[in-house]
Amino acid sequence: MLKDELKSFAREVGIDLVGIAPIERFKDVPPERHPASIFPEAKTIIVLVQEIPRGTFRGIEEGTLWMRAPRQIAPRYTYRIARFLEDKGWEGVPVAPLPPERWPEGIPVAKSGVAPNVSPSLEYAAVSAGLGEIGFCRIFLTPQFGPRQSLGMVITDAEMEPDPIFNGIVCDRENCLECVSNCSLNAISKDEVETITIAGKEMRCGRVNFKACKLCPQGVYLDEASQRATPTTSTDYLSKKIVEDISLNRLTSACVRACIAHLEKTNRITKKYNTPFRIREPWKLGIFDV
Ligand code: SF4
Ligand code: SF4
Repeated sequence: MLKDELKSFAREVGIDLVGIAPIERFKDVPPERHPASIFPEAKTIIVLVQEIPRGTFRGIEEGTLWMRAPRQIAPRYTYRIARFLEDKGWEGVPVAPLPPERWPEGIPVAKSGVAPNVSPSLEYAAVSAGLGEIGFCRIFLTPQFGPRQSLGMVITDAEMEPDPIFNGIVCDRENCLECVSNCSLNAISKDEVETITIAGKEMRCGRVNFKACKLCPQGVYLDEASQRATPTTSTDYLSKKIVEDISLNRLTSACVRACIAHLEKTNRITKKYNTPFRIREPWKLGIFDV
């Protein structure tokens, strides 16, 4: 079966988890975020997960080395999966979504009327492919690694048997709230709770003040794709827009590191270590400390 062959090939080339979502699971997604806006004949979305080593977070946990944890897997992996599909006669579109703010006033050029740059959400796709859930802090979590993974996506016209939506529990939400209490800017509300629904799966999440996160002194980076978009030749307007709308990578920030510590301590993920992640009291900086 194509799906089994694909999953076994993905493991051989260094992918830890693969999820398969039929395109129908994206029916609620607007055109500017929809994979079928990129490939109208798409039947299947393949989501790739690669574990980020826990050690990547060590320096920032100790407050001594700021290392970025990549949200997206390296393009060579989506390339290998696309090539695998194309060697079997199907088309494979390796997707490295760029934030739409790169084109703040995108003008449609295609007959579909959808403006570039279509930017599918990797996290939405990962839930749709049955790989995990969105945690209270609005970070994607898997039952294997919690928040410690990079994601990738390949869109294809090959039909494959879908993986079921994940029906387990990783985040214990209001029974935990470690992400809330470890944020020195109070950016995650424990009282204003919203339900995010993806492919029928409902997840209760705190409202996050992303404007505060942009000022986070506790380990936020610009999203890799946004970073590449940092303008050097753009107009002042575009620069301003990018600063206003910039996408963030929160994986190494205090809220997510607290989540890593909590999920390990309470045995909520399957990956085990011989020593705990959080060994010392975490450092904390407020906005006025920097
Ligand atoms: S990224 Fe920073 S400001 Fe935003 S919720 Fe996490 S710790 Fe708080
Ligand atoms: S820290 Fe706790 S409440 Fe927050 S996302 Fe992680 S498991 Fe959920």
